[in-house]
Amino acid sequence: MHHPDPSGPRVLLKSLRQAMAERGGGQQRLDTIVKLIATNMVAEVCSVYLKRDEANLELCATEGLNPGAVHKSSLKVGEGLVGRIARSGSPVNSADAEHEPGFLYLPETGEEAYRSFLGVPIQRLGNVLGVLVVQNRAGRHYDEAEVEALEIVAMVLAEMAEAGELLRPLALDPLSKTKPPAAARGVAAADGFARGKVVLHEPRIVVANPIAEHVQVELTRLHEAIDAMRSEIDALVNSKAVRDAGEHRGVLEAFRMFAHDKGWVRRLEEAVESGLAAEAAVEKVQSDTRLRMERITDPYLRERLHDLDDIANRLIRFLVGAEPITADSLADEAVLVARNIGPGELLDYGAELKALVLEEGSVSSHASIIARALNIPLVVRAQGVIAISENDDPIIVDGDSGMVYLRPEAAVIDSYGERAEIRRHDAEEFRAIRDLPAKTLDGVEIRLDMNAGLMADLPHLGESGASGVGLYRTELLFMVRSSLPRRDEQAEIYSRIIDAAHGKRLVFRTLDIGSDKVLSYFKREPEENPALGWRAIRLAMDRRQMMRMQAQALLRGAGERPLSVMFPFVATENEFYAARDVLLTEAERVRAQGHAAPETIECGVMLEIPGLAYASDRFFREVDFVSIGGNDLEQFFYAADRGNEKVRRRYDPLLLSFLDFIGQIVDRCAAGGTSLSFCGEAAARPVNAAAFAAMGLKAMSMRPAAIGPVKRLIRAIDLHEARAVIERARRKDELSARPALENWLREIGAPA
Ligand code: PEP
Ligand code: MG
Repeated sequence: MHHPDPSGPRVLLKSLRQAMAERGGGQQRLDTIVKLIATNMVAEVCSVYLKRDEANLELCATEGLNPGAVHKSSLKVGEGLVGRIARSGSPVNSADAEHEPGFLYLPETGEEAYRSFLGVPIQRLGNVLGVLVVQNRAGRHYDEAEVEALEIVAMVLAEMAEAGELLRPLALDPLSKTKPPAAARGVAAADGFARGKVVLHEPRIVVANPIAEHVQVELTRLHEAIDAMRSEIDALVNSKAVRDAGEHRGVLEAFRMFAHDKGWVRRLEEAVESGLAAEAAVEKVQSDTRLRMERITDPYLRERLHDLDDIANRLIRFLVGAEPITADSLADEAVLVARNIGPGELLDYGAELKALVLEEGSVSSHASIIARALNIPLVVRAQGVIAISENDDPIIVDGDSGMVYLRPEAAVIDSYGERAEIRRHDAEEFRAIRDLPAKTLDGVEIRLDMNAGLMADLPHLGESGASGVGLYRTELLFMVRSSLPRRDEQAEIYSRIIDAAHGKRLVFRTLDIGSDKVLSYFKREPEENPALGWRAIRLAMDRRQMMRMQAQALLRGAGERPLSVMFPFVATENEFYAARDVLLTEAERVRAQGHAAPETIECGVMLEIPGLAYASDRFFREVDFVSIGGNDLEQFFYAADRGNEKVRRRYDPLLLSFLDFIGQIVDRCAAGGTSLSFCGEAAARPVNAAAFAAMGLKAMSMRPAAIGPVKRLIRAIDLHEARAVIERARRKDELSARPALENWLREIGAPA
């Protein structure tokens, strides 16, 4: 019979601590450790496998298996049970190992005699360094306390490995990193490119003594550090820079909430009570959280994981008394390379960063929103970039294409040097035409507006020469917060947004949540097809109170100034009438109460669902304006998920079928006397914008950086000719107008 040690991991940790205090090299230590664990856990076998490089795990010490196999026997990550643990980061606990999926027998180790198997990953903050295994001859199931004990020991091993007290897993050895030029491809998340020097975001501080000497002392240290960390976060949230920052203050409010989470503090205390030093306890809890969160599919919750990482890192910093990260301590030309980063950390680094590269992250994460607000080029999901980066390495980050070049070759540097040169030159050209109209050679003027969604976007209004804001995505304000913003708070922000537009027309789009835009505080059922589901205006009209609150906030924010509002994702005209009714009824109420009300209110729709193009003539007479949401419209026109890279690029907005559809919308709006614009991403490409203009669109809204290039092309073409080119392509039964248009632009030497 086997009995787990009743005092849990504490006894084992204590004897480990003693063993560590003795002299000896890494191998000797490992050998002692496996013996201790085997004895303590009443296991016949205890083995440590360490990653010797990214792909291979080597048997580095064993008690019970054939000692001759040490440093000879190895497994690939993913191979056998040990490889499975390394890949998944989760334990395997089996009373019948031989029949576990993936079991692989290594004859040199002599392990066939052992039926039971318990293996746990040796990992630091999600980075698997190796695997720790115990085995028994008899078929037995290891209980929860034993699994927990082994995990705690594994975590201590990870700390020791990181501190260089064990045989160093090669995966950690900087010398094993390749030095030649290397590149990684990620997803472009914030425009622009930059050249600089790598700064590895290394919040991982080596914990010298992972095992507690006195539990009580460690608990006190833990609480003191938590208090200090909370004060720091409070100071950050209340700092003037953040107070003035508009919506992304909300990001930090959410962040502050995590720092006060009682469950988290309780788990930390428990880890200390199990015998870990305070800083090791923080890492243990964070590793567990990470594991749990990685199984969660809800994108909002997953994003919050990074906020938690950020907080855990801060706490460890306080515990070990490390210097905080600040913009001042940053090297010149710093390009930050990180697995992920929390919003608070990014603000600590500040706008001085030249660029940011993340292995994980997503375009819609809080950190990404802040990077865009600070104008820092950003590439996310650049897999493997940390493994190929070293501090101070030269790096080029292309936030337009998603490419990252490390130690780039001369040719790459030259090519980016040229691009930078062209960009400077272009910037001059764009500045020169900034205050000129986007008028074609044959005298047709196209209105170019910009899209926005954060207060920080608004300064671009002047710089870009946009006529106004054609699409203000109000949901971003809701997305970066931990709770529904109150009406007065919303009103204040809307008012400041209108101030910042300096009298230019600004179109607020009401809440467009659902589909991929999630609010943490808004519980909803999972949907089979969220893009076709309960979202945007459908949801808003069902949650009438929320819709009314936003309408009131918009009205109050506007005061007496004109107000333009459009409703997203309208499928049928009655949805528009009902939504308009909510806004106008609220306006009446505001007036009746004697408050200032907007002198004019414009109510428009986004045309994102093909069916709306076939609404009644009355609708096109009644609606004040229509804006084509090309992103969604294209998605539904071609039934191609806009978020799915496998299908997204198959269809082109310049296919004649889509252009014809645009032409029909133009005709219907013209017949109803309603104004029409286009506000999807597609208009940001000059050729597309020219084609849309040729189809009769007189207004487009796009990211601010696209205004200059689009205006330059519009000013260089004759719209009659562009129409004729498209017409010829149609008569020749072409599929797409793109080749013909591009040829034509090349022939006339237009700057496309
Ligand atoms: C669109 O669908 O084209 C649009 C502008 O809205 P969003 O991208 O926010 O869905
Ligand atoms: Mg849309």
